[in-house]
Amino acid sequence: MSGILVYALHHDGAFNKNSLGAVSEGARLASELGTECHALVLGEAAGLPDELCASLGRFGATKVFRVEGPEGLAQPVVDAMATVIGDGGHEYALFGGGLLGFEIGAGLSARLDAGVCMEVTNVRVDERSGDEAAGRGRGRLVAERPILQDSQVSDVHYASGVGVIIGRLNAFEARESGDADAVVEDVAVEFAPHSLRATMVTRGEQRGADVNIEDADILVAGGRGLGKAEGFEQLEALAGALGGAVAATRAVVDAGWFSYAAQIGQTGKTVSPKLYLAAGISGAIQHKVGMQGSENIVAINKDANAPIFEFADLGIVGDLNKIVPRLTEAVKARKGG
Ligand SMILES: Cc1cc2nc3c(=O)[nH]c(=O)nc-3n(C[C@H](O)[C@H](O)[C@H](O)COP(=O)(O)OP(=O)(O)OC[C@H]3O[C@@H](n4cnc5c(N)ncnc54)[C@H](O)[C@@H]3O)c2cc1C
Repeated sequence: MSGILVYALHHDGAFNKNSLGAVSEGARLASELGTECHALVLGEAAGLPDELCASLGRFGATKVFRVEGPEGLAQPVVDAMATVIGDGGHEYALFGGGLLGFEIGAGLSARLDAGVCMEVTNVRVDERSGDEAAGRGRGRLVAERPILQDSQVSDVHYASGVGVIIGRLNAFEARESGDADAVVEDVAVEFAPHSLRATMVTRGEQRGADVNIEDADILVAGGRGLGKAEGFEQLEALAGALGGAVAATRAVVDAGWFSYAAQIGQTGKTVSPKLYLAAGISGAIQHKVGMQGSENIVAINKDANAPIFEFADLGIVGDLNKIVPRLTEAVKARKGG
């Protein structure tokens, strides 16, 4: 059969939003192709009860393959996905993105000699190249990937038997499409020796994820203007003095400077705090859509022509490395600290 196989990551008895978005997207595409969306989950048996696996049916998966194995590591998932695709003949493998999705997708592509496209922000069905008679569904998928610093979008067509699609983190919206349970099927997978060489030492939340930034009244957000990951230390000091939390742009979370959990914008979180203080952020439209509902927007940027000044309530033109520490001291002095 043809079909789409989606990997769903779970932690502490829940699937993350990114995985649910990928399953929803897989289901939408499968329905347009006239095929089915299946999901694969992998972990310790005790952490994957029937109800949890079956709940992916609400996001459109008709079947969930449950594989017992070490959780949260890439190579065992590559083995499991390759086994299920080998048995089931799925035409596409879809991942929600994030570091684990990138690693598994790349590994699977190498294992299956399959075409891969990363950082995908949209997928569409190209009906013109479809060949229903040849049993390839009603069409072929075309992945859309932003290029040239996101100024253009390229279309990626798959020539390989299996196509691997890796989305940008949270690019696909999680949508409940019904209340039907998915059929849960246990699959025994023989892991390659090298797949079991890595072990999970510890698993926890990333920096910045301890505060729910969607609920914070005050957010101090940092962008590429911070220059390096350590630049966030001064924002944490300012946020601490103000009693707020730290947020970030996509550019810096992609660079690994701060937690994905703190990303604001089109493919991150939408916030509307009382105060949004943006330091070293240009104000790209994809960032703006996530924070434009803030009551007061204050921007610090060394470029007087930065787009963020077009919608900031208060703009400070200057070097954030000089302004932020002084602001922190001033806030502390005002609060008597
Ligand atoms: C489909 C899609 C989805 C996207 N989703 C998101 C999203 O969810 N969230 C998001 O944020 N972006 C998103 N982006 C990316 C977005 O287009 C921008 O690339 C990103 O927001 C830019 O981040 P930035 O402002 O940190 O970096 P830059 O655009 O590089 O801006 C850095 C700014 O810092 C200033 N600066 C430099 N040094 C200093 C200094 N010492 N003091 C003060 N200012 C300084 C510069 O003048 C500049 O304005 C998305 C893009 C696409 C195509």
